[in-house]
Amino acid sequence: MADRSFLSWPFFEDRHREHAERLEAWCAANLPVDHSDVDAACRRLVAALGDAGFLTPSAIDPADPQPLDVRTLCITRETLARHDGLADFAFAMQGLGTGAISLFGTPEQRQWLEKTRAGKAISAFALSEPRSGSDVANMEMTATRDGDDYVLSGEKTWISNGGIADLYCVFARTGEAPGAKGISAFVVPADTPGLKVAERLEVIAPHPLARLSFDDVRVPASSMIGRPGEGFRIAMSVLDVFRSTVGAAAMGFARRALDETVARVGNRELFGAPLFDLQMVQGHVADMALDVDAAALLVYRAAWTKDAGAARVTREAAMAKLYATDRAQAVIDKAVQLHGGDGVRRGHIVESLYREIRALRIYEGASDVQKVVIARQTMGAAS
Ligand SMILES: Cc1cc2nc3c(=O)[nH]c(=O)nc-3n(C[C@H](O)[C@H](O)[C@H](O)COP(=O)(O)OP(=O)(O)OC[C@H]3O[C@@H](n4cnc5c(N)ncnc54)[C@H](O)[C@@H]3O)c2cc1C
Repeated sequence: MADRSFLSWPFFEDRHREHAERLEAWCAANLPVDHSDVDAACRRLVAALGDAGFLTPSAIDPADPQPLDVRTLCITRETLARHDGLADFAFAMQGLGTGAISLFGTPEQRQWLEKTRAGKAISAFALSEPRSGSDVANMEMTATRDGDDYVLSGEKTWISNGGIADLYCVFARTGEAPGAKGISAFVVPADTPGLKVAERLEVIAPHPLARLSFDDVRVPASSMIGRPGEGFRIAMSVLDVFRSTVGAAAMGFARRALDETVARVGNRELFGAPLFDLQMVQGHVADMALDVDAAALLVYRAAWTKDAGAARVTREAAMAKLYATDRAQAVIDKAVQLHGGDGVRRGHIVESLYREIRALRIYEGASDVQKVVIARQTMGAAS
């Protein structure tokens, strides 16, 4: 049983603890799922999470709009990741893909949220392009006004849920100003003519992922989220909410690696005694436990700060994401080491954790970019 003593920290309220209990029981009964067909598995996971009511925190309730609760998002991701990386992915994308609508959408756009929160529609977040990943403000995709419509042309890549999504939140250049101030956000239903999956992408921890082409994709002007030229600000606001949750998922993977390691070194007999009796092994276990707890403090500090009403948590979220993902990588690497040959055997849980963790240090702002953010915020605070 994973250490869940963090739930008694003062960051949380009883409703968070109750949510964690309910979700833990659901996970124990339903996860992990078979990953051999990731499209089918994700569709089933979204439907099952929706049926069980666990997608409701992923977006605001259009009938009673309250701010997103970042602590609930983090607890959900941490718990799901500890049981099954694909389940965490399925949950996370329902939030990231609709984040712009939750934060800035019109009542008409928010009708999508009834479906995504119920697991009846799948969402995706389409920001990255082949020549602008970290350098988002340099995006090339255009959205040109034509009467009552906008016409979108260009490419998006690395789009999670690409190919299975029902709606895409798409960022494109509308040209009000050069760079970041000339980008707008749009809701684009997947069946809009001209929107195609150009390529499916395979990665080390498979999930639905695609490069998309937009060939004169026409959407009504009412599809724009926020105002013209606000897209970059909207994207950053969405990432401000969801970045800490990437740290939470990393922590879920790390906690699972720690649990597996504790069981392993307690049971494995070497040199006539449990592996745990070796002091160097105890040192590794101590490092792993310390990394997990320190990451948890940063993640839940960021989540609590946002929930307590901070307009932005750029510094806190960047610290949480950077530290939790980097340290989770180190924790999982130690787990692989302490499992010996089993640690690299295909299909072993720590082998899958080793693959699952890597992309988290790249997407939603690479680790190096988070360092730049933290340094700038620190210099800004000092001046
Ligand atoms: C599995 C996966 C899922 C993804 N899902 C989505 C999605 O759903 N939607 C979406 O829009 N995008 C998604 N992405 C894209 C992701 O956000 C980008 O890959 C990421 O922003 C990095 O962009 P890039 O790949 O173009 O790398 P580049 O921008 O070329 O950067 C390469 C490396 O350069 C370094 N670097 C970059 N900038 C700096 C800097 N300022 N200072 C120091 N070093 C720097 C970093 O080490 C970085 O990893 C996903 C990516 C992956 C791998």
